[in-house]
Amino acid sequence: MPREWEEYERGEEIKSMGQVATANLKAILEANSADNVAQLNRYAYKYTDCGASVGVLIHRGLDSEWIYDSDALRNLKPDDFIMALSVNSIVEGVDEGTDSHIVDLFDEAFETPEMAADAYARALEEVEKEAADIWNDTHGCETCAKHWNETIETELEGDDGVTPVWVDCPDCGGQGSAF
Ligand SMILES: [Zn+2]
Repeated sequence: MPREWEEYERGEEIKSMGQVATANLKAILEANSADNVAQLNRYAYKYTDCGASVGVLIHRGLDSEWIYDSDALRNLKPDDFIMALSVNSIVEGVDEGTDSHIVDLFDEAFETPEMAADAYARALEEVEKEAADIWNDTHGCETCAKHWNETIETELEGDDGVTPVWVDCPDCGGQGSAF
């Protein structure tokens, strides 16, 4: 095969992979009624209890770079090619965040763009669940603390970022408290 032809084929392959990634992103945006990733990020924050956020891995020239900042997301340019999304959440009051769940738009496991949209939905659910677990491990109130101190002989104070929530707590109603 002539060299030019090989290069042409390689170019076509890269182009078609790019088209698949673009179609996957489009399906994710459509499934969430978002026009762009900045809006996707806003909706993720708004419609999850944990206030999840979305970052994007973009390809610029020969480099790639993760962008999480909402202003930067709004200022993405049309030729900033998006390769992957990342979903995570920081839990208020503690220095703990959920894992970052990556949706790779080039993932060959996605046989259809809808499967990419499902993967994004799953990532959001997992982040929501992890954030709730972190909250429940850390946001017990003073009455929660009293309960643990009496039942399992701890010396917790509550409202301190280390007291677990007591689900039957009459004070916080098993919701824990913000601090
Ligand atoms: Zn409580």
